[in-house]
Amino acid sequence: MQLQIECSSYSEYCLCYLCQQYFQRKEVSVILCDDQGKNYGEVCTHCIAKGYTWMQNQFQQLNYQIKLSINRETNKPIKV
Ligand SMILES: [Zn+2]
Repeated sequence: MQLQIECSSYSEYCLCYLCQQYFQRKEVSVILCDDQGKNYGEVCTHCIAKGYTWMQNQFQQLNYQIKLSINRETNKPIKV
């Protein structure tokens, strides 16, 4: 997991990827990326305040849930 910091000249409401809450972005936007550099979305200051370890745990948990939901769609039931 990586964090990209970009300057933004305007403030607007964004959805935080980690806590799924809307927040008002200030001068700086923090973007969450995986190790391959894939952009996942912005992170709010509340989540940043919880620390890198918390964010990493939350990020892994979210990705795990996404993988589970994909498997549920593609895998057909083995036992009927
Ligand atoms: Zn957040």
